[in-house]
Amino acid sequence: LPLTPPGQTPVRVLTIAGTDSGGGAGIQADTRTMALCGVHALVAVAAVTVQNSVGVSGFHEVPPQVVADQVRSVAGDIGIGAAKTGMLASSAIIEAVAAVCREVGIGRDGSAPLVVDPVAASMHGDPLLHAEALDAVRYTLFPLATIVTPNLDEIRLLTGVQVTDSASARTAAEALHALGPQWVVVKGGHLRTSADSTDLLFDGERFLEFRAPRIATGNDHGGGDTLAAALACALANGYSVPDAFEFAKEWTRRCLDAAYDLGTGHGPVSPLW
Ligand code: PLP
Repeated sequence: LPLTPPGQTPVRVLTIAGTDSGGGAGIQADTRTMALCGVHALVAVAAVTVQNSVGVSGFHEVPPQVVADQVRSVAGDIGIGAAKTGMLASSAIIEAVAAVCREVGIGRDGSAPLVVDPVAASMHGDPLLHAEALDAVRYTLFPLATIVTPNLDEIRLLTGVQVTDSASARTAAEALHALGPQWVVVKGGHLRTSADSTDLLFDGERFLEFRAPRIATGNDHGGGDTLAAALACALANGYSVPDAFEFAKEWTRRCLDAAYDLGTGHGPVSPLW
């Protein structure tokens, strides 16, 4: 991505998401990615998780109004080039976030593109989203999105489609797109039966496939956040959605290649390549 000369104001990208005390995923992955992509990271904290490399043992939700106020505060003063949502925890937070995004022009019909990563659970299966919030993700958040980036578990939760091959990936893409986002991506990285990691983009008309060899690593904590954050950075720089996705996929591949051991569980992907 283009680097802003020292002393000049870079593009701003907002993350609305949860923290990770282990420093691997969530807001920590987002802000790290944004800094290394040369953009200024703005942060609206939606939840505070208690987690380490072994798992998430609990989380605390920020009051919905305070989440929305963080967004409103930076939108008015600093300006937002693109935004991404990650862990939003509850329907009350999702509704507050959707309302403030519409108010300040974030989303597919606004001036700032919105990447929605519908975070539902950690890689260990610990819930990060209340079950009552699935309808708010489907009917309140998705219609605002420039692109949604669910993993295969989140696709199954949201659409009921179990992706096992390229035909079911297309079915899932159509089911996700019917919920209203401009673009969807069906990420194949978790499809362990395939030697490739093939991602499928769909905008209601075109299917675009992005192929790369699967990277075998137990250290992939924060991979989904990193992809969505890099995508938001490229969109903020004016890239089209397919070009932004190509950039984000390659960025994430390098971060997976550079992942390291941390603690006794799963280590994080690393942007220090
Ligand atoms: N914690 C937070 C705050 C997250 O946003 C995410 C993922 O999006 C996770 C944990 C889970 O990350 P992983 O699935 O890489 O363990």
